[in-house]
Amino acid sequence: MQLYNTLTRQKEIFQPLREGRVGLYACGVTVYDDCHLGHARSAVFFEVVVRYLRWLGFEVTWVRNFTDIDDKILRRAQEDGKPWEEVAEHYIASFQEDMAALGVPPAQIEPRASRHIEEMLEIIRRLAARGFAYQGEPGGDVYFRVRRFPGYGRLSGQRLADMQSGARIEVDAAKEDPLDFVLWKASKPGEPAWPSPWGPGRPGWHIECSAMAMKYLGETFDLHGGGLDLVFPHHENELAQSEAATGRPFVRYWLHHGLLTIDQEKMSKSLGNFFTVKEVLARFPAEVVRFFLINSHYRSPLDFSDAALAEAETALVRLYTPLARLRERLWAQGVGGGAVAQEEGLVGLANEEREKLATLRERFSQAMADDLNSALALGYLFEAVRLINRLLEQPSAEPGYAGLLRRGYQDLVELGGVLNLLQADPAEMLRILRQERQDLAISPAEIEELIQRRSQARREKDWVAADAIRQQLAAKDIILEDTPQGTIWRVK
Ligand SMILES: [Zn+2]
Repeated sequence: MQLYNTLTRQKEIFQPLREGRVGLYACGVTVYDDCHLGHARSAVFFEVVVRYLRWLGFEVTWVRNFTDIDDKILRRAQEDGKPWEEVAEHYIASFQEDMAALGVPPAQIEPRASRHIEEMLEIIRRLAARGFAYQGEPGGDVYFRVRRFPGYGRLSGQRLADMQSGARIEVDAAKEDPLDFVLWKASKPGEPAWPSPWGPGRPGWHIECSAMAMKYLGETFDLHGGGLDLVFPHHENELAQSEAATGRPFVRYWLHHGLLTIDQEKMSKSLGNFFTVKEVLARFPAEVVRFFLINSHYRSPLDFSDAALAEAETALVRLYTPLARLRERLWAQGVGGGAVAQEEGLVGLANEEREKLATLRERFSQAMADDLNSALALGYLFEAVRLINRLLEQPSAEPGYAGLLRRGYQDLVELGGVLNLLQADPAEMLRILRQERQDLAISPAEIEELIQRRSQARREKDWVAADAIRQQLAAKDIILEDTPQGTIWRVK
């Protein structure tokens, strides 16, 4: 497998530190508000990375933190007139609720910064002992001495000289150098404070992640990532302080995903152009949202719009419809079936088309192995679906037909599962997806009602009435299919 490593700016063969095991740390949210769809992109992407690595057979330790002590949380607490712990607790619960609703399982380890203060102080002590940390003034903030660390700027590809002239560096009289960043903040009256050798205070943001990552994954670990907006200064600083403290490489591969945009602008709280996960999930099924987030290369920016979500919905219908039909067909024929036919030219597909179905797993796997190209991997699933649809249109008694269908079904479900897609009951999912559709000549509720009436007629063996209902729906481009799970419908 090859991964694009932000540190080296190229794709590299992935070789974990320990055979068969992978440690992954993904930066989590700062819990001062409900999370927006940009946070969901991060969560969905890293969860797919974990799924894929496990599918390959790796044992993965996945850590995602909560930054639960931070200026933004303190500000929010002040605004709301609540203790900061309560604010943090509330938004941790909100995040977990959103992830559950989105269908993203929790990370294996979800550490909270406020419970790892001792580990952070230990790193700062080591940095001070090695001359990398200093206190600006007695009782004041503790800083990291950037110029002492060779290679600062390596991760974000910046030179010290350029950074110095950058306007983003704030000047602070207590700092030896404007580039230095804070490791430990002296608490102001009324702010939460933990005792430290430098006086009561609280951690800076960057030290939190270094401490939690190294505690659970070791001083050197395999994968560390987050959104592109974290490369500088967050990850640059994490790298510098961690390596300065341990004298060892911190992270082997840095993975950064592109940002979610609205009208090409970054989705963010500070810009005020964002949709919360709750808002989006109120309007679209969770799987549609996950599909949208994973159906483009993770390093590309992803532009959010209603039209893009509607497209994702249509695409999911296209994947689930043959799954529902395959189930019906396979269930009807008994799941036993024969082997996949080896003979050439059988069952209505050209040799090369059969070859495409036969090699679906390999091609999917290759796409994912090439820097996690989930968009290409999904493209292969759609290609397979087109071929399976043709098979379904041409029922055959030829040997191998059922085997080909069965394998198609199994592949779609298994490979979809690597992307956390296609795991729902197909008929049920199609019902959910269609409830959202606005462009039908008849409402989904009316369709469901007619289906009920038709089922009733069929039970009473009133074939004329049942057929009339089928015709009535067909006139509105609604096709019915009877499956063991009930009657499903699709748009012609
Ligand atoms: Zn972090």
